[in-house]
Amino acid sequence: MDICRGDVLVMKKNHPCGCNRMRVLRSGMDFKLRCEGCGREFMIPRSKAEKNVKSVDTAERETIKVIKDDMNV
Ligand SMILES: [Zn+2]
Repeated sequence: MDICRGDVLVMKKNHPCGCNRMRVLRSGMDFKLRCEGCGREFMIPRSKAEKNVKSVDTAERETIKVIKDDMNV
């Protein structure tokens, strides 16, 4: 699965806040995701994340630099 930092993962299951879109802040063995609904950030193992992804929205991949600066990664 092709997932890059800056992508938005559309999850099969909604977050408790009701949003199912998760921004990828960091990718690797673990993903660092931020819920687009409530802004909560969390780490999740790549294997587990991929299992729960319905689709990947790469439309905003180009904003990656902005995110990078914001997050100070
Ligand atoms: Zn949420």
